[in-house]
Amino acid sequence: MTPLAPPPSPPGPAVADGLWSDSDPPRLLAGCCRDCGAYSFPVPDACARCSSVDIAAENLPPTGTLWTWTVQRFQPKEPFDGAEPFAPYGVGYVDFGGKVLVEGRLVESDPRRLAIGMRVETCLVMYRPGTYTYAFREVQP
Ligand SMILES: [Zn+2]
Repeated sequence: MTPLAPPPSPPGPAVADGLWSDSDPPRLLAGCCRDCGAYSFPVPDACARCSSVDIAAENLPPTGTLWTWTVQRFQPKEPFDGAEPFAPYGVGYVDFGGKVLVEGRLVESDPRRLAIGMRVETCLVMYRPGTYTYAFREVQP
């Protein structure tokens, strides 16, 4: 299967604001509750655990561990507005040091090359022409 195309540099507009910082490589921004310590992604307005609104945005580490994954083989229903024609893509949850699990696209869509526990890094990929989103790709040794 064809991996998602890497973005040109610099990338275009994001699918949503506040998902990642402008660092190189990009790092996802998570919210850390200053009252109870819970992390969440994306940065929430209030903590899902204790309802506090005292949330600090923090860079997640550049790499994490693939916690689970699947391959999206059919076009999702609206509000999906990704690139046409639809192409299957990997999707998974990445564990960032036990702080938070983040769902996102995987650059790899071949199930033979995906494994729970593999090290992945955050990258940016084209979501639809001119718009970018974060994704995860295997860390090369
Ligand atoms: Zn909290």
